[in-house]
Amino acid sequence: MTEDVGTTPRKPLTPTQRLKLFETFEGRCVLCERKIGAGEPWIDEHLRALGLGGTNAAENRGPAHKACADAKTHGKDGDLARIAKAKRVKMRHLGIRQRKGPAIPGSRDSGWKRKLDGTLERRSK
Ligand SMILES: [Zn+2]
Repeated sequence: MTEDVGTTPRKPLTPTQRLKLFETFEGRCVLCERKIGAGEPWIDEHLRALGLGGTNAAENRGPAHKACADAKTHGKDGDLARIAKAKRVKMRHLGIRQRKGPAIPGSRDSGWKRKLDGTLERRSK
């Protein structure tokens, strides 16, 4: 399954929209489902990230603790990682090759490995 990579720009909510969103979800975080306490920082989270084809529509938004949202966005399997992967998949699908930088000596790609004394040695394949 490939995910489409959208280009929808993020659009901030007005304070009134934020209040409505909060009330619609009864102040519950869409990510951990715990109540968002008074004074706890929260953001309007895109249920489906914009970079993964989500929209700015109200149905695609819900309140989330800022901490939860950060974890979702920046985590190992977070949105950013998934967006990067979706982009790579899409580019490959379209036949766009990603330019690889020069191989770093000693890296697996270079065909050489650096020995403990600093000299380079051909990797045996
Ligand atoms: Zn939460």
